[in-house]
Amino acid sequence: MSRSSSLGGKSQRSGLILAKQLQASGITSTKVLEAIANCPRHLFVPEILAHKAYDNTALPIGQGQTISQPYIVARMTELILSDNNDQVLEVGTGSGYQTAILAQIFAKVFSVERIKSLQWQAKRRLRNLDLHNVSMKHGDGWKGWANKGPYKAIIVTAAPDDVPPQLLEQLDDGGKMIIPVGQDHQILRLITRNNNNFQQQMIEAVRFVPLVPGELL
Ligand code: SAH
Repeated sequence: MSRSSSLGGKSQRSGLILAKQLQASGITSTKVLEAIANCPRHLFVPEILAHKAYDNTALPIGQGQTISQPYIVARMTELILSDNNDQVLEVGTGSGYQTAILAQIFAKVFSVERIKSLQWQAKRRLRNLDLHNVSMKHGDGWKGWANKGPYKAIIVTAAPDDVPPQLLEQLDDGGKMIIPVGQDHQILRLITRNNNNFQQQMIEAVRFVPLVPGELL
């Protein structure tokens, strides 16, 4: 985030306090903690909820969707980091908060969202924060974004019943995907690809909105 867009005063302190709280909860990546500390989360929530923006909780963002809990954003991000952090595919842009964290760490972010109004708002927020290394697409993230891949990192922020095969195909050799899977009882899975072998590791129980097929205007 550029100097001109980083916020002084209260929100910067709030970001720092939130990052310290996440560190105490077990987040270890300095890159992730710095990105959280620098990101003005109050700009990613409805104005009426701005006073809760730096709480470690998910919040409604309209259209029946939510901005994810900061701890989960941080945890998912640190699990897909590698040595180069070249490019990442995100499915479920939502508010764009997770996107803003990724954009501070990865060279290039590709993000797919099925609800156009959310995508527009997210796009405006990122532009206002001078985060220009993000490409967005309105569409069904179930199918990924094939012609920009394969990706060394994929992050899915809505829960399917099962891992979409197209996302597995778009995962590069040695790449890592983090994805919540399930309906009532969802588990965060970390999938690592080695040639055509997909190793799956169960991380923790989570609660995401469902990954819905198709797109919406
Ligand atoms: N990371 C976001 C989470 C938003 S909630 C944030 O912190 O703000 C999940 C998002 O996934 C919603 O915006 C929802 O519209 C989107 N979504 C659900 N199914 C989708 C699909 N098939 N393709 C793309 N986006 C989808």
